[in-house]
Amino acid sequence: MAHDVVVVGSANADLVVKAERRPGAGETVLGEDTVIMPGGKGANTAVAAARLGADVALFGAIGDDHHGTILLDSLRDAGVHTELVETTARPTGIAYITVTPDGENSILVSPGANHALEPERVEKALSGAKVMVVSLEIPLRTVERAIETGARAGVRTLLNLSPAAALSERTLAALDVLLVNEHEAAWLLGSADDPAKLLDLGPRAAVVTLGARGALVLTPGSAAEIAAPQVDAVDTTGAGDGFTGALAAALAGGADLESAVRKAVQVAAISVTRPGAQPSYPTAAELPGG
Ligand code: ATP
Repeated sequence: MAHDVVVVGSANADLVVKAERRPGAGETVLGEDTVIMPGGKGANTAVAAARLGADVALFGAIGDDHHGTILLDSLRDAGVHTELVETTARPTGIAYITVTPDGENSILVSPGANHALEPERVEKALSGAKVMVVSLEIPLRTVERAIETGARAGVRTLLNLSPAAALSERTLAALDVLLVNEHEAAWLLGSADDPAKLLDLGPRAAVVTLGARGALVLTPGSAAEIAAPQVDAVDTTGAGDGFTGALAAALAGGADLESAVRKAVQVAAISVTRPGAQPSYPTAAELPGG
């Protein structure tokens, strides 16, 4: 079955433990009860797009285990289609997150099934899609094949290069929109001086998220800065994924890139005023004018 938006990316169970301090080498520290939260960049992005009413499917992988069931349930609750989520022999990906009273996180990711996401089925998954969104935390060969296959099939290709990784020139040239935060932009270019140089890497357009300042939209010969609304941020976890999902939903709905980024900036600003990643993403009715 065809879907307007296909997200290619990870799904993780986030196991969050609050503790007075994080253990050092060879040390045991007692923490509070574990809270299990659905996460992973792909799943977060898909949930954000579905909350806004987009017809979206996740192309991802989980294990045949309790965490996998939790992730499928949360995707379905949000309205994400899950028939492209493969159940593999490897365990569901887990992010072990320790949170200390200063609010700092330390995170250990065990990718598990996410690293078993093979590119073979991607062609079928993309048939009939308007927009494909790809993020990292899955094998690079799957990222590259998805983007190149999508471009050949006439699907609008959007890559959230997070966490940053080196992709082939061919893949970058097949991209419609490269989406990065400021750190990833500086990593890609070797400096933070001129983000417009992202276009020299090959994509048709680039969007740089600027945290509380909003986002920058770069197309050949033009740069537009879209300011974020001023809000009281309580938790920025998953803000980038929420932005990405909202951008994809707006593009699939026919918006031009700059209008889609304006929408994404509004969605992400709401998400940072609420705790968590997936639970923080708003519905269309919660947006100004919605
Ligand atoms: P994260 O890793 O926290 O998911 P990121 O590093 O990928 O985020 P950011 O640039 O920090 O990306 O944030 C993504 C978007 O979220 C920004 O472009 C902006 O629209 C919104 N945002 C983030 N922080 C704030 C804030 N304090 N106030 C308003 N909007 C914010």
